[in-house]
Amino acid sequence: MDVLRKDDDNPNRLNDESLGIYLHIPFCVRKCRYCDFLSFAGADADVIASYAHKLIGEISGRSVEFGPDRTVDTVYFGGGTPSLLSPKLVGEVLDVVYARYRVADDAEITLEANPGTVSEDTLRGYIGAGVNRLSIGAQSFDAKKLRYLGRIHSAADTRDAFAYARAAGFGNIGMDLIFGVPGETIAGWLDDMDEALQLAPEHLSFYSLTPEKGTPVFQDIVGGRVTEVSEIDDRLMYHSAIERLAEAGYRHYEISNAAKPGYESRHNLKYWSLDDYVGFGLGAHSYCDGFRFANTERMMEYMSAVTPLSMMAWEHANTASDDMAEFIFLGLRRTDGIDLARFSAVFGMNFWDLYKEETDGLIERGLLEQAGDTLRLTRLGLDLSNRVFQEYV
Ligand code: SF4
Repeated sequence: MDVLRKDDDNPNRLNDESLGIYLHIPFCVRKCRYCDFLSFAGADADVIASYAHKLIGEISGRSVEFGPDRTVDTVYFGGGTPSLLSPKLVGEVLDVVYARYRVADDAEITLEANPGTVSEDTLRGYIGAGVNRLSIGAQSFDAKKLRYLGRIHSAADTRDAFAYARAAGFGNIGMDLIFGVPGETIAGWLDDMDEALQLAPEHLSFYSLTPEKGTPVFQDIVGGRVTEVSEIDDRLMYHSAIERLAEAGYRHYEISNAAKPGYESRHNLKYWSLDDYVGFGLGAHSYCDGFRFANTERMMEYMSAVTPLSMMAWEHANTASDDMAEFIFLGLRRTDGIDLARFSAVFGMNFWDLYKEETDGLIERGLLEQAGDTLRLTRLGLDLSNRVFQEYV
Protein backbone atom coordinates (compact mmCIF):
# COMPACT_ATOMS: atom_id res chain seq x y z
CA MET A 1 0.00 0.00 0.00
CA ASP A 2 1.25 3.51 -0.78
CA VAL A 3 2.00 5.70 2.21
CA LEU A 4 -1.12 7.76 2.95
CA ARG A 5 -1.05 11.23 4.45
CA LYS A 6 -3.20 12.09 7.44
CA ASP A 7 -6.27 14.26 7.43
CA ASP A 8 -5.68 16.02 10.75
CA ASP A 9 -8.86 18.08 10.31
CA ASN A 10 -11.04 14.99 10.41
CA PRO A 11 -13.17 15.43 13.59
CA ASN A 12 -13.26 11.65 14.02
CA ARG A 13 -9.53 11.29 14.19
CA LEU A 14 -8.07 9.47 17.12
CA ASN A 15 -8.81 10.71 20.59
CA ASP A 16 -6.70 13.73 21.49
CA GLU A 17 -8.62 15.03 24.50
CA SER A 18 -7.48 12.60 27.13
CA LEU A 19 -3.94 11.65 27.97
CA GLY A 20 -2.27 8.78 29.77
CA ILE A 21 1.02 9.33 31.57
CA TYR A 22 3.55 6.52 31.91
CA LEU A 23 6.42 6.95 34.40
CA HIS A 24 9.37 4.61 34.08
CA ILE A 25 11.21 3.62 37.26
CA PRO A 26 14.26 1.66 36.07
CA PHE A 27 15.51 0.18 39.34
CA CYS A 28 15.27 -3.34 40.76
CA VAL A 29 16.69 -5.04 43.83
CA ARG A 30 18.19 -7.72 41.62
CA LYS A 31 17.89 -8.60 37.97
CA CYS A 32 15.52 -11.53 37.34
CA ARG A 33 16.96 -14.32 35.21
CA TYR A 34 14.51 -13.81 32.32
CA CYS A 35 14.42 -10.03 32.27
CA ASP A 36 15.60 -7.79 29.47
CA PHE A 37 13.57 -4.74 30.52
CA LEU A 38 15.33 -1.44 30.98
CA SER A 39 16.18 -1.71 34.66
CA PHE A 40 19.27 -1.69 36.87
CA ALA A 41 19.96 -3.61 40.04
CA GLY A 42 21.49 -2.31 43.21
CA ALA A 43 20.83 1.44 43.10
CA ASP A 44 20.85 3.02 46.56
CA ALA A 45 18.19 5.35 47.96
CA ASP A 46 20.12 8.51 46.96
CA VAL A 47 20.39 7.44 43.33
CA ILE A 48 16.69 6.60 43.24
CA ALA A 49 15.80 9.96 44.80
CA SER A 50 18.00 11.86 42.28
CA TYR A 51 16.32 10.02 39.45
CA ALA A 52 12.85 10.80 40.83
CA HIS A 53 13.74 14.48 40.98
CA LYS A 54 14.99 14.42 37.40
CA LEU A 55 11.72 12.75 36.43
CA ILE A 56 9.78 15.46 38.22
CA GLY A 57 11.68 18.07 36.19
CA GLU A 58 10.81 16.27 32.97
CA ILE A 59 7.10 15.94 33.86
CA SER A 60 6.97 19.61 34.71
CA GLY A 61 9.09 20.78 31.77
CA ARG A 62 6.95 19.06 29.14
CA SER A 63 3.58 20.09 30.58
CA VAL A 64 3.30 23.10 28.27
CA GLU A 65 3.56 20.76 25.32
CA PHE A 66 1.06 18.11 26.48
CA GLY A 67 -0.88 19.59 29.34
CA PRO A 68 -3.10 22.51 28.50
CA ASP A 69 -5.86 21.02 26.35
CA ARG A 70 -6.07 17.53 27.68
CA THR A 71 -7.31 15.70 30.71
CA VAL A 72 -5.00 13.13 32.21
CA ASP A 73 -7.14 10.12 33.03
CA THR A 74 -4.46 7.51 33.73
CA VAL A 75 -1.05 7.59 35.37
CA TYR A 76 1.07 4.45 35.45
CA PHE A 77 4.26 3.89 37.46
CA GLY A 78 5.97 1.03 35.60
CA GLY A 79 9.40 -0.49 35.71
CA GLY A 80 11.65 -1.84 36.85
CA THR A 81 10.31 -1.84 40.36
CA PRO A 82 8.34 1.33 41.10
CA SER A 83 7.73 0.10 44.65
CA LEU A 84 11.38 0.97 45.32
CA LEU A 85 10.17 4.58 45.38
CA SER A 86 9.20 5.67 48.87
CA PRO A 87 5.61 6.88 49.31
CA LYS A 88 7.10 10.36 49.83
CA LEU A 89 8.73 10.30 46.39
CA VAL A 90 5.60 8.87 44.77
CA GLY A 91 3.70 11.73 46.40
CA GLU A 92 6.17 14.31 45.06
CA VAL A 93 5.88 12.88 41.54
CA LEU A 94 2.08 12.88 41.68
CA ASP A 95 2.05 16.39 43.13
CA VAL A 96 3.80 17.71 40.05
CA VAL A 97 1.42 15.80 37.77
CA TYR A 98 -1.54 17.39 39.56
CA ALA A 99 0.08 20.82 39.63
CA ARG A 100 1.02 20.92 35.95
CA TYR A 101 -1.74 18.92 34.25
CA ARG A 102 -5.51 18.78 34.42
CA VAL A 103 -6.19 15.42 36.06
CA ALA A 104 -9.61 13.74 35.96
CA ASP A 105 -11.29 13.23 39.34
CA ASP A 106 -11.59 9.52 38.63
CA ALA A 107 -8.11 9.09 37.11
CA GLU A 108 -6.71 5.57 37.35
CA ILE A 109 -3.34 5.79 39.11
CA THR A 110 -1.43 2.51 39.04
CA LEU A 111 1.82 1.50 40.67
CA GLU A 112 3.61 -1.77 39.95
CA ALA A 113 4.82 -3.43 43.13
CA ASN A 114 7.26 -6.26 43.69
CA PRO A 115 5.98 -8.33 46.64
CA GLY A 116 9.50 -8.44 48.06
CA THR A 117 9.61 -4.68 48.55
CA VAL A 118 6.39 -3.64 50.28
CA SER A 119 4.98 -3.42 53.78
CA GLU A 120 1.54 -2.42 54.98
CA ASP A 121 2.99 1.01 55.83
CA THR A 122 4.40 1.64 52.37
CA LEU A 123 1.15 0.54 50.75
CA ARG A 124 -0.82 2.86 53.01
CA GLY A 125 1.64 5.57 52.04
CA TYR A 126 1.02 4.97 48.34
CA ILE A 127 -2.72 5.29 48.86
CA GLY A 128 -2.11 8.51 50.79
CA ALA A 129 -0.02 9.77 47.86
CA GLY A 130 -2.91 9.17 45.46
CA VAL A 131 -2.27 5.69 44.00
CA ASN A 132 -5.57 3.82 43.57
CA ARG A 133 -4.55 0.71 41.66
CA LEU A 134 -1.79 -1.73 42.55
CA SER A 135 -0.24 -4.20 40.15
CA ILE A 136 1.54 -6.98 42.03
CA GLY A 137 4.28 -8.88 40.17
CA ALA A 138 3.58 -12.29 41.70
CA GLN A 139 4.70 -14.36 38.66
CA SER A 140 4.21 -17.66 40.53
CA PHE A 141 3.40 -19.28 43.86
CA ASP A 142 5.77 -22.18 43.25
CA ALA A 143 9.03 -21.87 45.21
CA LYS A 144 11.06 -23.74 42.60
CA LYS A 145 9.72 -21.66 39.73
CA LEU A 146 10.29 -18.40 41.62
CA ARG A 147 13.85 -19.45 42.36
CA TYR A 148 14.53 -20.41 38.77
CA LEU A 149 13.16 -17.07 37.55
CA GLY A 150 15.42 -15.29 40.05
CA ARG A 151 12.58 -13.48 41.77
CA ILE A 152 13.46 -11.86 45.10
CA HIS A 153 10.23 -12.89 46.83
CA SER A 154 8.43 -15.99 48.02
CA ALA A 155 4.79 -17.01 47.60
CA ALA A 156 4.26 -16.01 51.24
CA ASP A 157 5.56 -12.50 50.42
CA THR A 158 2.98 -12.25 47.63
CA ARG A 159 0.15 -13.35 49.91
CA ASP A 160 1.33 -10.88 52.54
CA ALA A 161 1.60 -8.06 50.00
CA PHE A 162 -1.90 -8.81 48.83
CA ALA A 163 -3.28 -8.81 52.38
CA TYR A 164 -1.41 -5.58 53.19
CA ALA A 165 -2.81 -3.97 50.04
CA ARG A 166 -6.38 -4.88 50.94
CA ALA A 167 -5.84 -3.74 54.54
CA ALA A 168 -4.40 -0.46 53.28
CA GLY A 169 -7.55 0.07 51.23
CA PHE A 170 -6.72 -0.97 47.68
CA GLY A 171 -9.96 -2.02 45.99
CA ASN A 172 -8.33 -2.50 42.60
CA ILE A 173 -5.43 -4.94 42.52
CA GLY A 174 -3.87 -6.58 39.51
CA MET A 175 -1.54 -9.55 39.53
CA ASP A 176 0.96 -10.84 36.94
CA LEU A 177 1.73 -14.51 36.40
CA ILE A 178 4.22 -16.23 34.08
CA PHE A 179 3.75 -19.65 32.54
CA GLY A 180 5.81 -21.89 30.28
CA VAL A 181 8.88 -21.88 32.53
CA PRO A 182 11.29 -24.78 31.79
CA GLY A 183 10.23 -27.83 33.79
CA GLU A 184 6.73 -26.52 34.46
CA THR A 185 3.78 -28.88 34.00
CA ILE A 186 0.21 -28.02 33.08
CA ALA A 187 -0.95 -29.21 36.51
CA GLY A 188 1.67 -27.00 38.17
CA TRP A 189 0.52 -24.00 36.16
CA LEU A 190 -3.11 -24.60 37.09
CA ASP A 191 -2.08 -24.70 40.75
CA ASP A 192 -0.50 -21.28 40.24
CA MET A 193 -3.70 -20.00 38.66
CA ASP A 194 -5.78 -21.37 41.52
CA GLU A 195 -3.52 -19.76 44.13
CA ALA A 196 -3.87 -16.42 42.36
CA LEU A 197 -7.64 -16.76 41.99
CA GLN A 198 -8.01 -17.55 45.68
CA LEU A 199 -6.73 -14.04 46.37
CA ALA A 200 -9.39 -12.67 43.99
CA PRO A 201 -7.43 -9.84 42.34
CA GLU A 202 -9.55 -7.57 40.16
CA HIS A 203 -7.16 -8.03 37.23
CA LEU A 204 -4.90 -10.85 36.14
CA SER A 205 -2.18 -10.81 33.46
CA PHE A 206 -0.73 -14.12 32.27
CA TYR A 207 2.34 -14.14 30.08
CA SER A 208 4.14 -16.96 28.37
CA LEU A 209 7.85 -16.84 29.23
CA THR A 210 9.84 -15.51 26.29
CA PRO A 211 13.51 -16.47 26.51
CA GLU A 212 15.07 -13.12 25.57
CA LYS A 213 18.54 -13.23 24.06
CA GLY A 214 21.31 -12.55 26.52
CA THR A 215 19.35 -13.46 29.64
CA PRO A 216 20.46 -16.35 31.88
CA VAL A 217 17.27 -18.26 31.02
CA PHE A 218 18.11 -17.95 27.33
CA GLN A 219 21.65 -19.19 28.02
CA ASP A 220 20.23 -22.15 29.95
CA ILE A 221 18.10 -23.12 26.98
CA VAL A 222 20.78 -22.74 24.29
CA GLY A 223 23.28 -24.47 26.56
CA GLY A 224 20.92 -27.44 26.92
CA ARG A 225 20.80 -27.16 30.72
CA VAL A 226 17.00 -26.94 30.70
CA THR A 227 14.32 -27.94 28.24
CA GLU A 228 11.81 -25.43 27.00
CA VAL A 229 8.15 -26.19 27.52
CA SER A 230 6.78 -27.53 24.22
CA GLU A 231 4.66 -25.25 22.08
CA ILE A 232 1.69 -27.58 22.55
CA ASP A 233 1.97 -27.49 26.35
CA ASP A 234 2.50 -23.74 26.29
CA ARG A 235 -0.75 -23.31 24.36
CA LEU A 236 -2.58 -25.76 26.63
CA MET A 237 -1.43 -23.69 29.60
CA TYR A 238 -2.62 -20.51 27.91
CA HIS A 239 -6.08 -21.80 27.04
CA SER A 240 -6.55 -23.53 30.38
CA ALA A 241 -5.85 -20.17 32.05
CA ILE A 242 -8.52 -18.50 29.92
CA GLU A 243 -11.00 -21.22 30.89
CA ARG A 244 -10.20 -20.95 34.62
CA LEU A 245 -10.52 -17.20 34.46
CA ALA A 246 -13.89 -17.38 32.71
CA GLU A 247 -15.17 -19.86 35.33
CA ALA A 248 -14.07 -17.42 38.03
CA GLY A 249 -15.98 -14.51 36.44
CA TYR A 250 -13.12 -12.71 34.69
CA ARG A 251 -13.42 -11.35 31.18
CA HIS A 252 -10.51 -12.20 28.91
CA TYR A 253 -10.27 -8.80 27.22
CA GLU A 254 -6.78 -8.81 25.72
CA ILE A 255 -4.43 -11.58 24.57
CA SER A 256 -2.70 -11.80 27.97
CA ASN A 257 -5.10 -9.94 30.26
CA ALA A 258 -8.35 -10.65 32.06
CA ALA A 259 -10.34 -8.61 34.55
CA LYS A 260 -13.48 -8.64 36.56
CA PRO A 261 -16.04 -6.55 34.67
CA GLY A 262 -15.22 -2.85 34.98
CA TYR A 263 -11.63 -3.46 36.14
CA GLU A 264 -9.88 -3.60 32.76
CA SER A 265 -6.65 -1.60 32.85
CA ARG A 266 -7.69 1.78 31.49
CA HIS A 267 -4.07 2.76 30.98
CA ASN A 268 -3.11 -0.32 28.98
CA LEU A 269 -6.29 -0.04 26.91
CA LYS A 270 -4.87 3.24 25.61
CA TYR A 271 -1.97 1.37 24.02
CA TRP A 272 -4.32 -0.99 22.21
CA SER A 273 -6.74 1.75 21.17
CA LEU A 274 -4.10 4.10 19.77
CA ASP A 275 -5.05 6.75 22.33
CA ASP A 276 -2.52 9.39 23.31
CA TYR A 277 -0.07 8.76 26.13
CA VAL A 278 3.25 10.26 27.07
CA GLY A 279 6.05 8.40 28.78
CA PHE A 280 8.47 10.14 31.13
CA GLY A 281 11.67 8.68 32.47
CA LEU A 282 14.54 6.65 31.09
CA GLY A 283 13.71 4.99 27.76
CA ALA A 284 10.01 5.83 28.08
CA HIS A 285 7.96 5.68 24.87
CA SER A 286 5.08 7.94 23.83
CA TYR A 287 2.38 8.20 21.20
CA CYS A 288 0.91 11.67 21.08
CA ASP A 289 -0.52 13.94 18.37
CA GLY A 290 0.32 11.33 15.75
CA PHE A 291 3.99 11.13 16.75
CA ARG A 292 5.83 8.22 18.29
CA PHE A 293 8.90 9.18 20.30
CA ALA A 294 11.12 7.83 23.03
CA ASN A 295 13.67 8.97 25.57
CA THR A 296 17.27 7.89 25.69
CA GLU A 297 17.99 4.54 27.35
CA ARG A 298 21.33 5.78 28.67
CA MET A 299 21.14 6.76 32.31
CA MET A 300 24.06 9.20 32.14
CA GLU A 301 22.53 10.95 29.17
CA TYR A 302 19.11 11.13 30.85
CA MET A 303 20.47 12.43 34.15
CA SER A 304 22.72 15.04 32.56
CA ALA A 305 20.16 16.33 30.02
CA VAL A 306 19.79 20.06 30.41
CA THR A 307 16.25 20.20 29.03
CA PRO A 308 13.51 17.55 28.81
CA LEU A 309 13.63 17.76 25.01
CA SER A 310 17.28 16.79 25.01
CA MET A 311 16.35 13.52 26.77
CA MET A 312 14.65 12.34 23.61
CA ALA A 313 16.38 9.68 21.52
CA TRP A 314 14.09 9.60 18.50
CA GLU A 315 10.81 10.79 17.08
CA HIS A 316 8.71 9.49 14.21
CA ALA A 317 5.77 11.28 12.61
CA ASN A 318 3.25 8.54 11.92
CA THR A 319 1.77 8.62 8.44
CA ALA A 320 -1.88 7.65 7.95
CA SER A 321 -0.59 4.25 6.78
CA ASP A 322 1.30 3.84 10.07
CA ASP A 323 -1.76 4.81 12.09
CA MET A 324 -4.01 2.45 10.17
CA ALA A 325 -1.63 -0.49 10.60
CA GLU A 326 -1.25 0.26 14.32
CA PHE A 327 -5.00 0.70 14.76
CA ILE A 328 -5.42 -2.80 13.30
CA PHE A 329 -2.65 -4.81 14.92
CA LEU A 330 -2.86 -3.13 18.31
CA GLY A 331 -6.68 -3.23 18.24
CA LEU A 332 -6.69 -6.92 17.36
CA ARG A 333 -4.95 -7.60 20.68
CA ARG A 334 -8.31 -6.85 22.35
CA THR A 335 -10.65 -9.82 22.26
CA ASP A 336 -13.44 -7.45 21.17
CA GLY A 337 -11.37 -6.87 18.06
CA ILE A 338 -11.58 -3.80 15.85
CA ASP A 339 -14.66 -1.91 14.80
CA LEU A 340 -14.55 -1.52 11.03
CA ALA A 341 -17.11 1.31 11.05
CA ARG A 342 -14.87 3.23 13.43
CA PHE A 343 -11.92 2.56 11.14
CA SER A 344 -13.82 4.23 8.28
CA ALA A 345 -14.87 7.16 10.47
CA VAL A 346 -11.36 7.75 11.80
CA PHE A 347 -9.44 7.34 8.57
CA GLY A 348 -12.08 8.31 6.01
CA MET A 349 -11.40 5.13 4.05
CA ASN A 350 -13.11 1.77 3.82
CA PHE A 351 -11.18 -1.02 5.56
CA TRP A 352 -11.99 -3.55 2.85
CA ASP A 353 -10.75 -1.30 0.05
CA LEU A 354 -7.33 -1.30 1.75
CA TYR A 355 -6.93 -4.70 3.38
CA LYS A 356 -9.27 -7.13 1.60
CA GLU A 357 -6.66 -9.52 0.28
CA GLU A 358 -4.72 -10.07 3.51
CA THR A 359 -7.87 -10.13 5.66
CA ASP A 360 -9.68 -12.66 3.46
CA GLY A 361 -6.55 -14.83 3.58
CA LEU A 362 -6.45 -14.69 7.39
CA ILE A 363 -10.16 -15.51 7.64
CA GLU A 364 -9.68 -18.48 5.30
CA ARG A 365 -6.80 -19.74 7.43
CA GLY A 366 -9.02 -19.54 10.50
CA LEU A 367 -7.01 -16.83 12.24
CA LEU A 368 -9.56 -14.01 12.06
CA GLU A 369 -13.34 -13.93 12.18
CA GLN A 370 -15.79 -11.24 11.17
CA ALA A 371 -19.06 -10.60 12.94
CA GLY A 372 -20.92 -7.66 11.42
CA ASP A 373 -18.63 -4.66 11.67
CA THR A 374 -16.22 -6.39 14.05
CA LEU A 375 -13.05 -8.21 13.12
CA ARG A 376 -11.29 -10.26 15.79
CA LEU A 377 -8.80 -13.03 16.41
CA THR A 378 -10.12 -16.59 16.57
CA ARG A 379 -8.90 -19.06 19.19
CA LEU A 380 -6.20 -20.11 16.72
CA GLY A 381 -5.51 -16.46 15.94
CA LEU A 382 -4.80 -15.85 19.64
CA ASP A 383 -2.06 -18.49 19.41
CA LEU A 384 -0.62 -17.14 16.18
CA SER A 385 -1.29 -13.46 16.75
CA ASN A 386 2.15 -12.33 15.61
CA ARG A 387 1.60 -13.94 12.22
CA VAL A 388 -1.69 -12.06 11.94
CA PHE A 389 -0.13 -8.73 12.92
CA GLN A 390 2.69 -9.16 10.40
CA GLU A 391 0.14 -9.07 7.58
CA TYR A 392 -0.76 -5.49 8.45
CA VAL A 393 2.64 -4.03 9.16
S1 SF4 B 1 11.46 -7.15 38.90
FE1 SF4 B 1 10.65 -6.94 36.81
S2 SF4 B 1 11.85 -5.34 35.82
FE2 SF4 B 1 12.94 -5.97 37.69
S3 SF4 B 1 14.42 -7.47 36.98
FE3 SF4 B 1 12.59 -8.61 37.64
S4 SF4 B 1 11.32 -8.81 35.78
FE4 SF4 B 1 12.88 -7.25 35.37
